Amino acid sequence: MSAPEDAASEASAARRPVDEAPCGCDEAVERLWEYVDSELGELDQQRVEAHLEACAPCLEEEHIEVVLKQLVRRCCKEEAPAALRLRIHEQLTVLRLRAGTPPEA
Ligand SMILES: [Zn+2]
Repeated sequence: MSAPEDAASEASAARRPVDEAPCGCDEAVERLWEYVDSELGELDQQRVEAHLEACAPCLEEEHIEVVLKQLVRRCCKEEAPAALRLRIHEQLTVLRLRAGTPPEA
């Protein structure tokens, strides 16, 4: 009879590709736009999705991205230029930081 640990150590001994490492917040946020655009590979798409399901802050971020994407689509009727994406993303980050930061005076 083999304990469940046996299978786990076997799997790690087989040197799994980086793709199977758990997706962290940094990575999820970094790839969020690609995720929303379905530009990621199937594996990455699933990893980000799994992270979003388990991580409320990132899920919230995803909703922002989806709404943003729809707005941009509607306005531009084309892909937003990378520079615009970046500016919007920076703006959102600033807004979120402001909203989340208690006043220090
Ligand atoms: Zn997260």
